[in-house]
Amino acid sequence: FNMSGGCKQVAYAFHPHVLYVLCSLLTAAHGLSDEQREFQKVAFDFAANEMAPHMAEWDEKEMFPIETMRKAAQLGFGGIYVQPDVGGSGLSRLDTSVIFEALSTGCVSTTAYISIHNMCAWMIDTFGNTEQREKFCPDLCSMEKFASYCLTEPGSGSDAASLLTTAQLKGDHYILNGSKAFISGGGDTDVYVVMCRTGGKGPKGISCLVVEKETPGLSFGKKEKKVGWNSQPTRAVIFEDCAVPVTNRLGEEGQGFGIAMKGLNGGRINIASCSLGAAHACVQLARDHLLVRKQFGETLSNNQFLQFKLAEMATKLVASRLLVREAATALQESRSDAVSLCSMAKLFVTDECFNICNQALQMHGGYGYLKDYAVQQFVRDIRVHQILEGTNEVMRMIISRNLLTES
Ligand SMILES: Cc1cc2nc3c(=O)[nH]c(=O)nc-3n(C[C@H](O)[C@H](O)[C@H](O)COP(=O)(O)OP(=O)(O)OC[C@H]3O[C@@H](n4cnc5c(N)ncnc54)[C@H](O)[C@@H]3O)c2cc1C
Repeated sequence: FNMSGGCKQVAYAFHPHVLYVLCSLLTAAHGLSDEQREFQKVAFDFAANEMAPHMAEWDEKEMFPIETMRKAAQLGFGGIYVQPDVGGSGLSRLDTSVIFEALSTGCVSTTAYISIHNMCAWMIDTFGNTEQREKFCPDLCSMEKFASYCLTEPGSGSDAASLLTTAQLKGDHYILNGSKAFISGGGDTDVYVVMCRTGGKGPKGISCLVVEKETPGLSFGKKEKKVGWNSQPTRAVIFEDCAVPVTNRLGEEGQGFGIAMKGLNGGRINIASCSLGAAHACVQLARDHLLVRKQFGETLSNNQFLQFKLAEMATKLVASRLLVREAATALQESRSDAVSLCSMAKLFVTDECFNICNQALQMHGGYGYLKDYAVQQFVRDIRVHQILEGTNEVMRMIISRNLLTES
């Protein structure tokens, strides 16, 4: 295509080979084992062939690409860090990060939903008993069924421990009443991992129940209209005298908040990894654009200001990736600094990668603002990573609290 004289063709320049050249240039594969490089390549290829060609349409038409996700599950991406005896891939947190970064180069929104699904499957695998693991995990790992994580409520976002949804024990069932807000996948998914109040105020009164879609008393709000993340639905989840068997409780009564937070530690690495993928793709798109776009008689790539900007973007991407991989390793090894590192990775990486994508859009000039160009979708899709799974202000609270209370 010819951009020196104006746009002639849609610039969804995603060729697997091109992305792979970039990834070795930016050291995404350096330091990884042979096995890790192999599944990284599988994920990059899947992103380039199965996701990137559709990401604009999924966004525009707000399509939840169930069949594509099931194909991803066939590669083991439905339960990446779930144990193999219930259908999971049994991989590490670092492996998971590598996979989500690669997949996100093809579609951030879809990959981010897959990451939430993986988090739910891991929570059931880790905190469920044998019957619960065997009942739910195989179908989640194959993505025959899809999962949602239900913590936020209309009145409790950052202060999640103040949630009000009640679960009253009656015989062998809990009767749920209340509602959850902003639930990713809500209405289209089959399994809801719900944090609800079985006891008094505060985190110790919270339990975790798995609610199945067919349960009477479970309903959904309207599909939210969003800036990005349009390939996955977001809805309120409503409970009206919704009877859930006691056998669907994960862990003991009162352990729900701890389970929710443990899920989120990994979730924060995953969402940061999705931001890495977006930034990775945007550095590529910006580089390609600078090399072809001519102004003032030469390509933009000859302009030192833009060269320096590109260098800064690449440097921040590599620094971000190092932090994510350090946090993933700390979580895998259950290190005492893991919670802080997961929060640091989420804070630093989602902010820096948003800036990288936004700078890439700037480098595209007016074209960057057109929906024909992928860069704007990356910007829209990763903006929300600074808000959810704990806002970046909440990340600062966790990091400083751990620093100030450490003995
Ligand atoms: C697209 C999307 C998908 C989502 N998916 C899910 C999901 O699947 N499951 C789920 O449970 N939730 C989900 N969420 C909800 C998300 O986690 C919350 O929006 C987020 O935790 C913030 O809560 P809030 O929106 O109520 O903002 P608030 O808590 O009202 O915060 C508003 C602002 O004030 C700041 N703030 C609040 N308290 C403090 C403080 N003490 N110090 C400094 N700043 C503060 C916040 O950081 C934020 O900037 C999703 C949200 C979106 C937008």
